[in-house]
Order: sequence, then structure tokens, then C-alpha cells
Amino acid sequence: MAEAVAEAKRCLHCKVPQCKKGCPISNDIPEWIHELSMGNMGNAMAIINNKSNLPAVCGRVCAHERQCEGNCVLGKKGKHIDIGKLERFIADFDSEMRLTQERIPAKDRGRVAVIGSGPAGLTIAGILARKGFAVEIFEMEPEPGGVLMFGIPEYRLPKDVVRNEIRKIEQLGVVFHLGVCIGQDLTVDQLFDQGFDAVFMGTGAGKPKRLDIPGCNLPGVRQAIWFLRRVSLYNAGLIGRDEVRVNEGEKVFVVGCGNTAMDAARTALRMGASEVTIVYHRTIERMSALRAEYDDAVREGVKFRWESSISRILNTDGVLDRIIINHDGKDETVMADKVILAVGSQPAARIVSTSKGIEIDEKGYVLTRDEPYGMTTRKGLFAGGDVTNRPATVVHAMQDAQRVAEGIERYVDAVRLLRNL
Ligand code: SF4
Repeated sequence: MAEAVAEAKRCLHCKVPQCKKGCPISNDIPEWIHELSMGNMGNAMAIINNKSNLPAVCGRVCAHERQCEGNCVLGKKGKHIDIGKLERFIADFDSEMRLTQERIPAKDRGRVAVIGSGPAGLTIAGILARKGFAVEIFEMEPEPGGVLMFGIPEYRLPKDVVRNEIRKIEQLGVVFHLGVCIGQDLTVDQLFDQGFDAVFMGTGAGKPKRLDIPGCNLPGVRQAIWFLRRVSLYNAGLIGRDEVRVNEGEKVFVVGCGNTAMDAARTALRMGASEVTIVYHRTIERMSALRAEYDDAVREGVKFRWESSISRILNTDGVLDRIIINHDGKDETVMADKVILAVGSQPAARIVSTSKGIEIDEKGYVLTRDEPYGMTTRKGLFAGGDVTNRPATVVHAMQDAQRVAEGIERYVDAVRLLRNL
């Protein structure tokens, strides 16, 4: 606490705060830092809650160096304020002490169904619940959180932190239906038949892209998001070690160079792989991973092969044992036990194929309009987050979700007004 207050006291409380400008969700950073500097933890948390439902998550996984901290004026001549750490401190303190008791408004403005409980779905649910909507979330997994729970590894985002944030959203009166797959157990049409005024689709881009090369269907080739999900399930004690499919002492190659590739590479090392190499067809300057994630991966021992690609995956009696790496037009055969693919993902077609009137683009992303923001070509059905191909990170999904929440609010208010005329 003393350290946090001392750091908060360094803040200049700028009139035109560059930190806030750098934040995709325009978090009122100087205001809550000011409250923290006086030890008013409850006030600080209340200010954060106005803009974010997931501060403990953002405090850990946001790209602070590119956003708030990267813009802090103190960083120009010396050391920026540690905004991420302070946000995380306040959110964790609030969870432990259960400081904030929000007054929840009556849920009489309409019913909204939210499909998916990743960052976009949780953000929409929190905003609309605070504004008097009855919100129900439908999640296909046995536990809510989406990519926060199953995609980001424990060492970057502890699962108990996610659970705490979800508990707070539940306290706003949001109802969770777990293990319900929309498009399979229930359709969007059936949700509307149940009396929901609007439906939000925040199902993310959970269908990983494949690599079309010889040997890509061998059992030793795994998708990064499935591998990370299995490690999460294993860590939660829900599956056995053998189902993780990366074993001790194995040589692992990861294809791709985004944050998911870094997560998969570091996780493979932590699961006991003897050597992990990221293979990327471009230069280091073109990688999409955050520099901090890359630095951590290097520190942990991940190796890199730049401007290289895997052209063929070979096997002996069906067991992957070698790969051919191409660099500068030359082929090299190297020993390998597993290949993990992290070359991007796209939305699954489950909902679109079982509902009428939802138009998508040629890559399968759901098309939405600007008025009301986020509405798909199907009236009353909204979409946001990765399923629309707009955001790239947790906080960008939240930023998009804030705008869609406004769109839903305006739409439902108008529809109910017309219905009651
Ligand atoms: Fe404080 Fe830095 Fe933001 Fe200024 S830019 S208000 S010093 S955190």
C-alpha cells in the first residue's frame, strides 16, 4: 500500500492527461490515481468501474507500454507512472477486501442475451446490467471467461483473478448459463422466442487457421489455442497430463509470431519441452507479438528462426519426427517431436449457419453496421469482439463492446417505446 500510494503521489494530475488519451477505453486514470494517492481505495475503484469491468485483467495483460504508460508525460524525461501495476493493485485490493458494494438498478429496461463470456461479452453484460437491463450470458464451456480463462496462460493471468472479476459481474445480477452451446443446444431464433429484446454475439474467433503443407494432419501437429486450453484444463485438474500432448524432453516448433505463439512457446517450455523454437516467415520488426512478450520468451529460453517457414512435416510410421525448414530458398531437415500452429484464427460458423439473415464477409467475419452500432444484418442481433474482426487485444475487445452496449441500449429503448405506443 505504501509503495502504491508513493507511486500515485508522483502523478502530476495533468490537465490534458496523455495517459487517458492512450487508453482505448478512456479510463479516467488521473482521477483514480489521485484518489489512491490519498488512500481512498473505494473511490478509486468506483472511478475505474465507470469504464471497466475487468481492471484486474487489464492491469495484467494490457500493452501498457504502447498505451497509457507509453503516453505518460513523466516517461519523456524519466520514469512513467506504473499505471498497470496501480490498477492491478486497486482491483486486487477491492477483491480481497470486498470494498465496493454497488447499488444495482431495477432490471426493467429490457432483456439481453449475451453469447460468449470472453472480454467482449463480460464487458457488455457489466455495462448493461449497471444500466437496468436484465442480462443472461450463454457460455458453451463449463466455466465462464472465454479466452481469459482458456487462452491466456496462468503465469500471465491467474485464473483466480478472472474468477474474481466474474464474481463481481455476477453480483450485478448477470445470470450465467454454462455448458450451453448456441447454434447447437439453442438457436438465436429460439433466444428471441424466449423474449429477449436483443442478443449480443461475442463468440470470438475460436476456429484456428490451418497450415496447408504436407504432413499438417499428423497427430503431432497441434493448434496453439487447443494446446493452451488443454494446459488450462490440466492445471485445473480436469484432464490428465497425457492429454496435454507436449511431453518432457520434446523438441517443439511453434509457427507464427503473435502473442498466442509466445504463450504457446513459453507454456511448452514450462510443460517440460527440452527445446522450443518459433519459426516465422518475416523479420522481428514485423512480428505482431508485444515486445515485452518477446523479451520474456527470449529470457525463458525460446529460440527464434526469422524469415523461415516449415515446408514439410515428416514422420516415421505415423509419428512426427522431422520437419523441413526453408530459409533463403534453402531446405534444412531438423529433428522435431511436435509442431504447434499459431497462425491466426477465424470465427466458427455454428451460429451463422443455424440462424436466418446474418451476413458475413468472405473470411467468415460477421458484418455489422454503425447505426445502431454493432447490429448485424439480423434485426436485434448485435456482434462485437473478434467475431467481427475489429479488435486485436483484450482492451480493444472491451472498447468495441462499450460502443456496442450503447447501440443495444438505444435499440432496445426504441423498440420497447414503439411496442408500448
Ligand atoms: Fe499522471 Fe502521467 Fe497521466 Fe500525467 S500522463 S496524469 S503524470 S499518469
